[in-house]
Amino acid sequence: MSTKINIAIDGYSSCGKGTLAKALAHHFNYLFVDSGAMYRAVTWAIQKEKIELTKIDKVSDLLSRINIRFVYSEQDKFYQTYINDQNLEKEIRSMEVSRYVSEVSAIKEVRDFLVNQQQQIGLHKGVVMDGRDIGTVVFPDAELKIFMTARPEVRAQRRHHEIVSRGDTHTSYNDVLSNLTERDSMDSSRSISPLKPASDALVLDNSEMTREQQLTIAIDWVNDIIKNLS
Ligand code: C5P
Repeated sequence: MSTKINIAIDGYSSCGKGTLAKALAHHFNYLFVDSGAMYRAVTWAIQKEKIELTKIDKVSDLLSRINIRFVYSEQDKFYQTYINDQNLEKEIRSMEVSRYVSEVSAIKEVRDFLVNQQQQIGLHKGVVMDGRDIGTVVFPDAELKIFMTARPEVRAQRRHHEIVSRGDTHTSYNDVLSNLTERDSMDSSRSISPLKPASDALVLDNSEMTREQQLTIAIDWVNDIIKNLS
């Protein structure tokens, strides 16, 4: 059996981290974990219970009552995000959650709770996790760290296309562009675990790349690392 490694993929909003992470996980038969979905799920729960973000006791109480899980859907051939027994895959992708998630993810208690769960998942290696602090905080010892980026207009165009193809015709390109630049700015400037490349991350700018091209580059990086480890 070949050596398994952990792969951390960080980067700006909507630059295809999830797409690359899923494809890599599929190629190497690794587990894919979307850490952003976990922050989105907590955000959804906070909104549902109308908890004010300054009421940290209430936030902590909520965290003690929720169990975030990824459950494989045979129909979609993909993992879906659950809180306790409720499938929230669709709800957590809404613009309402997107508008609020960066504020929620700046709360220390929320980060401690989720980082702990993410680190447990990575203990046995063979994990591809994407997010904002995976290479810097969650898996500082990951054998491969990728920091992804692309021009904001390219990212907004791709995300808008995705939203429209899901049937949402109310969200404009400009809404998407301003949401992602706002999130980038909040995620990069927060005091706890700000978004930044780990010092040993490999930077991948995919503004002018196809999915296949970026996957080929990343597969080569993984194979080189595994070769050197075995
Ligand atoms: O990856 P996605 O865009 O779904 O993440 C939503 C938000 O969750 C990000 O804008 C960021 O505020 C937060 N997040 C984070 N740390 C992570 C993953 C996501 O703070 N590891």
